[in-house]
Amino acid sequence: MLPVIALVGRPNVGKSTLFNRLTNTRDALVADFPGLTRDRKYGTATFELRQFIVVDTGGISGNEQGIDARMAHQSLLAIEEADVVLFLVDARDGLTPTDIGISEHLRKQEKPVHIVVNKVDGLDGDSESADFYTLGMGSLLQIAAAHGRGVSKLIEAVLSPLDKIFKDMHVAPPSIEEETIDAQEKLKQLQAQPIKLAIVGKPNVGKSTLTNRILGEERVVVYDLPGTTRDSIFIPMQRDGREYVLIDTAGVRKRKKVSDVVEKFSIVKTLQAIEEANVVLLVVDAREGVAEQDLSLLGFILNSGRSLVIAVNKWDGLDNHVKDQVKKELDRRLGFVDFARLHFISALHGSGVGHLFESVQEAYESATKRINTSMLTDIMEMAQHDHQPPLVRGRRVKMKYAHAGGYNPPVIVIHGNQVKDLPDAYKRFLTNYYRRSLSMMGTPIKIEFREGS
Ligand code: GDP
Ligand code: GDP
Repeated sequence: MLPVIALVGRPNVGKSTLFNRLTNTRDALVADFPGLTRDRKYGTATFELRQFIVVDTGGISGNEQGIDARMAHQSLLAIEEADVVLFLVDARDGLTPTDIGISEHLRKQEKPVHIVVNKVDGLDGDSESADFYTLGMGSLLQIAAAHGRGVSKLIEAVLSPLDKIFKDMHVAPPSIEEETIDAQEKLKQLQAQPIKLAIVGKPNVGKSTLTNRILGEERVVVYDLPGTTRDSIFIPMQRDGREYVLIDTAGVRKRKKVSDVVEKFSIVKTLQAIEEANVVLLVVDAREGVAEQDLSLLGFILNSGRSLVIAVNKWDGLDNHVKDQVKKELDRRLGFVDFARLHFISALHGSGVGHLFESVQEAYESATKRINTSMLTDIMEMAQHDHQPPLVRGRRVKMKYAHAGGYNPPVIVIHGNQVKDLPDAYKRFLTNYYRRSLSMMGTPIKIEFREGS
């Protein structure tokens, strides 16, 4: 599981600046799901070989009232889901009463907290920081988020104590032989395990109903387990003679009150589930069409490289005219994930649910289909023959050979001259060419380019 870092602090101390530096802004998922505050942002970050989730909790001051108090409550929920809290303060403002208010909130949370003194650029950080020691919250780190100063040291200090719990992300090993062997080893491990299937989607799209439908009603009571908001439930099951583990983000429990609808939904939980899964089943609501949040989730799923099946739920009781409109809209807006199978289902009545698993299995098999150097090189040569790579700075790009770099998602590494300069259109052509040649439905395909032989 990826570690989760929460950024906390009063407004204007530099939380968004640090968030943007750590994540790719384009990946930020803004939590404007119903019932959650608008200004909470989630992103995945890969920073100097480490991967983690960052949550910008929005501003809390520790002395909110009324609606602000509810927002602050949401920020505190975000803190509950975090492994580490970075409490940002402003070197230029010094210690303020609001900082003290926040520190009192944080003390109750019993989480590891690091005080991060931001905006030390052009200052003598040490003297400005001295005041903050009086908060009595352990270690103190100085950064200038806007300039990137101190940020890698910060990440190192924050994440290295967690290394025992969380594994580092691996980078490409040194040689191609090793890399190929490594990929094949991982493939063997993958194939020996059950298929991990995560069911994700916005609140109220029908995830619980679908999970219940898949499991059969009597299982529901068994899984009425306590857990934190952040934990998904892992449910082993069998289907068509295959072993699965269902990663249930909806929390199939009996709902006690309406507000549970919101409370059981957690973006961190959703992101963790996607990372854990082999195949993601994204549920969207036919009656609402494709919402911004569906697209954000798709962005995350694509980034994670997981296989994908899309279930358009609540297909019951719609008239044909509406169905046609919905289908058109889906075609238009989901073009960028055209490798994923779409299913029109009713979790409530069960129609279409059985066929989902055919696509899940296909998506898994595509993602874990063994590919070897000669096969990949042959396909590359055919593609090159059908459609010559363009000239770049007056020289023809030349692809020489390809090998497998990983599975789930399949990674194809192409070596050659100037291959990194291939235009995006040609890269897309190659991806589609491999997809068709290898009949890989349901999984993204990643192509990496390496200069030289
Ligand atoms: P947030 O409200 O906590 O998210 O704060 P922002 O990230 O929006 O930053 C507030 C202001 O502080 C902006 O004008 C930033 O440009 C500025 N700021 C952020 N980091 C730094 C820094 O390292 N040095 C300086 N001098 N200014 C910074
Ligand atoms: P979750 O928040 O994604 O887990 O959504 P739920 O499974 O709790 O469903 C939200 C609401 O949508 C409930 O009232 C369900 O009865 C309803 N619902 C779920 N699936 C369907 C469906 O296929 N058709 C219709 N008409 N309603 C559904």
